[in-house]
Amino acid sequence: MICDLNTDITYLPGIGPQRAKVLESELGIKTWRDLLYTFPYKHIDRSRLYKISELTTEMPFVQVLGQFLSFEETGEGRKHRLTGHFWDGEMFLDVTWFQGIRYIKQSVKLHKKYILFGRPGVYGGRLSIIHPDLDNPESTSLSTMKMQPYYSTTERMKKAGITSRSMEHFTNSLFNKLTWEIPETLPEYLIGRLHLMPLDKALRSAHYPSTADELSAANMRLKFEELFFIQLIIMSYARKRQQERIGRRFTRIGDTFNTFYHNYLPFPLTEAQKRVIREIHADMSSGHQMNRLLQGDVGSGKTLVALMIMLIAIDNGCQACIMAPTEILAEQHLQTFQNFLQDIPIHVELLTGNIKGKRRSAIEEGLQNGSVNILIGTHAVIEDNVQFNNLGLVIIDEQHRFGVAQRARLWQKSNICPHVLVMTATPIPRTLAMTLYGDLDVSVIDQLPPGRKPIRTLHIYDNQPEQLYKGVIREIEAGHQVYFVYPLVKESEKLDLKNVEDEYVHLKDIFPQYRISMVHGKMKPHEKDAEMQKFVSGETQILVATTVIEVGVNVPNASVMIIQNAERFGLSQLHQLRGRVGRGAEQSYCILVSNFKLSAETRKRLQIMTETNDGFEIAEADLKLRGPGDLEGTQQSGIAFNLKLANLGRDGQLVQLARDTAAFVLDADPDLIAKENHLLHLHLQELKKERQDWSRIS
Ligand code: ADP
Ligand code: MG
Repeated sequence: MICDLNTDITYLPGIGPQRAKVLESELGIKTWRDLLYTFPYKHIDRSRLYKISELTTEMPFVQVLGQFLSFEETGEGRKHRLTGHFWDGEMFLDVTWFQGIRYIKQSVKLHKKYILFGRPGVYGGRLSIIHPDLDNPESTSLSTMKMQPYYSTTERMKKAGITSRSMEHFTNSLFNKLTWEIPETLPEYLIGRLHLMPLDKALRSAHYPSTADELSAANMRLKFEELFFIQLIIMSYARKRQQERIGRRFTRIGDTFNTFYHNYLPFPLTEAQKRVIREIHADMSSGHQMNRLLQGDVGSGKTLVALMIMLIAIDNGCQACIMAPTEILAEQHLQTFQNFLQDIPIHVELLTGNIKGKRRSAIEEGLQNGSVNILIGTHAVIEDNVQFNNLGLVIIDEQHRFGVAQRARLWQKSNICPHVLVMTATPIPRTLAMTLYGDLDVSVIDQLPPGRKPIRTLHIYDNQPEQLYKGVIREIEAGHQVYFVYPLVKESEKLDLKNVEDEYVHLKDIFPQYRISMVHGKMKPHEKDAEMQKFVSGETQILVATTVIEVGVNVPNASVMIIQNAERFGLSQLHQLRGRVGRGAEQSYCILVSNFKLSAETRKRLQIMTETNDGFEIAEADLKLRGPGDLEGTQQSGIAFNLKLANLGRDGQLVQLARDTAAFVLDADPDLIAKENHLLHLHLQELKKERQDWSRIS
């Protein structure tokens, strides 16, 4: 008897070296454990046999018990088919094959009982089932089955003869071999407290449940476990850091901050901005290193907050640095800061990949000797090789791209870790934030600066551009500027999408009286900047762009955002784009222009945009519509969540439960040394070993 889930998959009947290779390359299955954790994507209830007289074309998959009384082969070439006349004792049903006819004729016997399984349809005017599965009603393993599992397969698997049915046989024979109980991973007290199904039963039931309720209880247990260990690892780490990491005490509010605040602040701060600055300051003066997330909707004024807390760092004798996701944004931060600071003697420098040679060495020297107070740069530049004299604060202005692991790398930049503030470009749904940023404290700017008029959003179709152009002229004549955003740079043969370069030419024809800038990601940085600059300064009235302008670009005089092929953009992207207008006091508009042919989901997406301006609401809707796998940045976030069952979008309540439970466990036993937590301790060690990212931070 083999009692080890790490046993190689080839120790199962039907899996030789060839198939093992395919299973590994296609689904990552190497061991028994891997197979156990490869769950069916659906189950079909096979607990009931139907009579042919009951069948209708509305039914999903059904099964019928009976026998073939005759076969009939007709047609040639593409019309070649085999029809079996299947008799259930009362009525006949046509069963048809178009492929594999030779095999069927050889293997299917007349007058032998079969359970026929398939979806009833109409073929040639008669009720029939096409390409059914056929089972032997006497084969014991299958006849006891009530809910049949269906496993995902790929083309390569099918070529190697591995169908969902084969997967079923593999798991079935594995469970037959597992005569011992699969070891539990959660302590008994948690299982009892939360009424969870024990692991052994949950795994068996996730593949072979006897009822739908049993299946959902099994899934709930397994999902909980996935989410719980993520939360446990994040929280135990965050708590350790809180206790252990010493932080510089930024207690002083000094000259720089005060001069700026009293003499140069261009407008009163919103209450939310004030509160957030107080929270951040309290955190930075606590003696512990700050790790904080600053959430705020587009346009809520995060940049100013960032600047003001950098001034606090400077007043306390430190340097500060802010990292932007793109070069355009980094450059914009430079301008914004220079505008804000005016003649306050603060040395701000910008470092991007384009800055080379002497200029770069000069900046690097300034950073090392401490004469540069604030460094602005892109993630890539700052992450690796830049050395500071006394870096006290790092602000990451990001697009969900910076995971726990990357943050960890930052902290290794000096003996005393700098304080870290992560600013999100778009609001993140709560459940996702708890996972992606579960190790951070959170501050929220939940208020927009006063005097903003909510942006009006319209969805129109692309067949009547004249109306749209009239609106554009009206706005420009009123002294405003207009964005046109497109999904592609160059014409694509496959997709019928508008593209920037063509549209640039086209719009020049339509608006000969106006000047137009164009920016896209394929341009050289200096060209891009020059074009962008023309729009910022008001020299051009129209900016034609791809999503390079998505994040952060600030032109308060722009009042119209026209998004072409809006159906091609995700919700958070649309929201970000829309956030480029509505930054001044004027009424602004966002026009979503789409094709006529829209899927239900896309229609819903565009509808949500027209209904709300609230980024938090939009983020929740996005997560529900698309699931977290597609959410921007969740994959690159640096954390391999490796969730097999749980879905951060749909399973929000379970995420919360997992987080609460992890807190409950760690409150009682922070280091997991108690006897009843021994299992947790072991499992956590293993997880840390598996995931480099995690081991680095803990
Ligand atoms: P985001 O949070 O999206 O980064 P920004 O920091 O770019 O937003 O701010 C959006 C606009 O609002 C900018 O033009 C900024 O100068 C302005 N702003 C920020 N704070 C205030 C305030 N308290 N009152 C008025 N305008 C403000
Ligand atoms: Mg911003």
